[in-house]
Parts: sequence; structure tokens; C-alpha cells
Amino acid sequence: MPFSFEKVVTKTCKKCGEETDVEILEKKLHICPACGAYLRMGAYERLAMIADAGSFAEMDGELESGDPISFPGYGEKLAQARKDSRLPEAVVCGTARVEGSPCAVFVMDSNFMMGSMGSVVGEKITRLFETATEKGLPVIGFTTSGGARMQEGIISLMQMAKVSGAVKRHSDGGNLYITVLTDPTTGGVTASFAMQGDIIMAEPGALVGFAGARVIEQTTGKKLPHGFQKAEFLLEHGFVDRIENRERLKSTLSNLLKTHEKPENGGNQYEAV
Ligand SMILES: [Zn+2]
Repeated sequence: MPFSFEKVVTKTCKKCGEETDVEILEKKLHICPACGAYLRMGAYERLAMIADAGSFAEMDGELESGDPISFPGYGEKLAQARKDSRLPEAVVCGTARVEGSPCAVFVMDSNFMMGSMGSVVGEKITRLFETATEKGLPVIGFTTSGGARMQEGIISLMQMAKVSGAVKRHSDGGNLYITVLTDPTTGGVTASFAMQGDIIMAEPGALVGFAGARVIEQTTGKKLPHGFQKAEFLLEHGFVDRIENRERLKSTLSNLLKTHEKPENGGNQYEAV
């Protein structure tokens, strides 16, 4: 990663306030040692958690957003986001192996403008699905987002349809798509590719929703139930297939990939009893 000389030394848990060395957190998969809360992870940290060492080959890593509607202050905001997150954009895409199984993977990163979905986020994910369709690869997607990127106006909203089209063509080709919803996944990302996975997993305690709870309460005039928009609530109501913890995530993904492997790629789905 570039700019690693500005290394962050400690991170504070938002739930219990405990400050922990980043080195310790990295070994503990960014789970707070004091209270067990799941701290947010950067894209490359997640990749290190699930991809086999040295297997990740990044795609379109050089793509950066322009300022398509000349939104006031957007250029400066992008420059700041690149500096703070040490990333060119809010999603990292590429191909990798998970316990030997090949796949395409995208990982959104909330450190870059809260993982908001602009034209480059949409374009990178679309290209990833197109490559995966061509090569017959499954896609694993980690989502985290505050929603559409308002500084790109309608162009950011169009990404929902563009990515969805690529997801559909990938699906029509008989390919598997797994999403892992992480905290927080909201807005246009929830309303499109986050919820289009054949298998939808979530991290414990992740906030997943479209509009914020306060907006819904104000609009409907009703009090929302306890735990509304949390992964556990969504599992109970059928929006999520499984909540998986970080320790088990890699082996669960590997099992799913192996179960769905295509026969031409050495899979045995037609031999299964
Ligand atoms: Zn904590």
C-alpha cells in the first residue's frame, strides 16, 4: 500500500472506547479484544483475511473519479479522501483464490468517502462482473457504503442499473455471486448489488438498510422495532441467508465456492448425491 509511512498506531473501539494497537487488531481480525465488537476493516485488510497469500491480482487499480457535474468542492474532497484512505477510490477489485478456489472479488472501503458509490465504483464493479462472466468465475463482494455519491448526481444513481445489468448477465451465465454485507451497507448499494447475491451473508451486528432509521420514523410516524436494520434482524426476516464471523468466513466462502464449482473447472456438482 502507498503512503505506509503515515502508519496509524492505535484504533479506538466505538462500542466500548477501548484503544488497541493496530498490530494486535490485525492479528485478531479487527475484533475488539475488550468487548468483541467488529471494527471496520480496510479493503486490503479484508483481502488478506480471505484470499490465499499472493493470489490477489488487482484490476483497474488506476481508475480515479473525475468531477462529471462540476460539483462545488468535489475535486478537493476527492483529493482529501485519497490522502486519508490511501486509496484511489472506494472499491478494490481483482481475481484471487480462496483455499485454492478461483474467484473474482470486490471489496468496498468505508475509509474513502464512506464507501459512497460514484461512477468509478460502479465502473470497476461492472468490469469485474464482465471479466468474471467471460472467465466463468464466481464473484465474492464485500459491501460497505453510505449510498450513492451525491457529488456525482444522477451519474452515481445510474451505477445501480449498470452494475445490476452486469450481475444479471453473470447470473445468466450460470455463475455464482456471494455478497458479504458489512457495517454499514446502506442506500443505493443496498438497493442494488448488495442484495442481488445468490447467497447473502452478513457480519455480526452490521447495519444494513436503505434509508436511515430516523428518516423512516419521521416519514411513517411509527416507532421502529428493536434491532431494526441490524444483520440479526435481517436474518430473522429473510433478507440475509447467514451471519458469519470473521474467524470462519474464509472456510465458509471456500466451502461455498467448492460446492458450486462448475464441472469444466474441475467441480463435481453433477456427481453429487
Ligand atoms: Zn470494544
